[in-house]
Amino acid sequence: MTWQARIDAALASREASHSLRRRVVCDPAPGGALVHQGIRYRNFSGNDYLGLSQHPALVAAWRQGAEKYGVGSGASGHVSGYSGAHQALENALAQWLGYDRALLFISGFAANQAVVAALMQPQDRLFADRLSHASLLEAASHSPATLRRFAHNSPQALAALLDKPGAGLTLAFTEGVFSMDGDLAPLAEFAGLTQDAQTLLMVDDAHGIGVLGREGRGSCDVAGVKPDLLLVTFGKAFGLSGAALLCSEPMADYLLQTARHLIYSTAMPAAQAQTLNAALTLIREGDDRRARLARHIARFRAGAAQLPLTLAGSQTAIQPLIVGENGAALALAAQLRERGCWVTAIRPPTVPAGTARLRLTLSAAHQDDDIDALLEALYDGCR
Ligand SMILES: *Cc1c(COP(=O)(O)O)cnc(C)c1O
Repeated sequence: MTWQARIDAALASREASHSLRRRVVCDPAPGGALVHQGIRYRNFSGNDYLGLSQHPALVAAWRQGAEKYGVGSGASGHVSGYSGAHQALENALAQWLGYDRALLFISGFAANQAVVAALMQPQDRLFADRLSHASLLEAASHSPATLRRFAHNSPQALAALLDKPGAGLTLAFTEGVFSMDGDLAPLAEFAGLTQDAQTLLMVDDAHGIGVLGREGRGSCDVAGVKPDLLLVTFGKAFGLSGAALLCSEPMADYLLQTARHLIYSTAMPAAQAQTLNAALTLIREGDDRRARLARHIARFRAGAAQLPLTLAGSQTAIQPLIVGENGAALALAAQLRERGCWVTAIRPPTVPAGTARLRLTLSAAHQDDDIDALLEALYDGCR
């Protein structure tokens, strides 16, 4: 076996199973749209739920940040890459969400890797919802701890795992809003089950933060819970990228010793931290944006209820339409694209077999006529 043969075989097998992934060039455009090969599409596949990624105040904040700090942080935060802008953002996040500390990460993916790697030891147990994000499962696959995935959103299933005695410590992990289904985790029940000193509860609220709760504080605010570890990411409602882990003072100090994704990686640019702080202000004051998004969700669901497809129970900006077979999902996505609506078909293994779907996402940047155009294209596509 040569490297060439190994790589060729992997690509050929992907090609044969119609699962070869390719990227397409999409340039963002105002109003929840994108431009592909010179054509403007209404974008129903992004995660820019509040439409902040193109907000003029944030573009200005980034420009000012770059003028003040330059474009790169120049080093890991442990060396000389931790600026006043980083510190101000961490403090603002901690205060907003009611935690001692916030630690910035370059991405949510990196944060999940870092937390699992830094905390979990042999003998420990990681209990994660079946539908947890790839970044968590990837981290778990490298961990010496035992991973057990429990039935989606099932407090009974988590309770059954917790009831069995373990030799080490336990981390229970869930998302606040599930990325492929848009449904909410039963966080109050999970919090009730994880009170003991041997168990930490971690909530990854990538899709809830900014969108749900008072001042956009997310799923945990809605459920009235404060998990031991709360991950918020900035690539979705915040409109930028990066992530922060909210935690206690000793936990933050521990992770600063042990999280290699922090220690050996260049900190996010200070200009980005400054822009994120401006985004946080917009999010806290963003009730009008959240209300517009809620109206779009209601409008879409009322219209989509007439379709011969399974509309999921989701009340969030993620509105999956379950089609079933891969081919049918791909064909419908292609028809929508011809009608100017950019929609992605999500296929197994990202979702369970036989549940290929259109993962539609709505944004406050959309207008009513975007939602109507999507619905019309769906009606025609299902004829
Ligand atoms: C998007 C996402 C991540 C990864 O965050 P990035 O900042 O994009 O790396 C982690 N968890 C969940 C649930 C996500 O949806």
